[in-house]
Amino acid sequence: MARTLFEKIIAKEIPASFLYEDELCVAIRDINPQAPLHALIIPRQMIAQLSHAKTEDQALLGHLMLVANRIAADAGYGNAFRLVVNNGAEAGQSVFHIHVHVLGGRPLSWPPG
Ligand code: AMP
Repeated sequence: MARTLFEKIIAKEIPASFLYEDELCVAIRDINPQAPLHALIIPRQMIAQLSHAKTEDQALLGHLMLVANRIAADAGYGNAFRLVVNNGAEAGQSVFHIHVHVLGGRPLSWPPG
């Protein structure tokens, strides 16, 4: 299977603005930011989309949420931020390597589009 854009970013074959890295995931700035803080938290393990995750991925998925806390707090938005996971093309997913969007720094209305 062809490697995803995010696998190439994780391997540093494609440049990106890294905010955080650990043994399980990386966080980068989104290239097309929708808020003053718009980060993507991407696991090193390739899971195409959330609905493909398995029971054994539970700890990894939880880790992504805790890293999101840290990214938002480090940016100064620890009290007001939003996480988004688009699952499937019809839900807006364009890169099929699971990732968590972290948005902060502006009012975030509800319902989302
Ligand atoms: P999604 O549509 O939920 O799959 O999110 C994919 C995100 O990746 C979009 O918000 C894009 O703006 C972002 N993106 C695409 N290419 C890059 C890139 N080279 N570096 C950083 N973010 C990217």
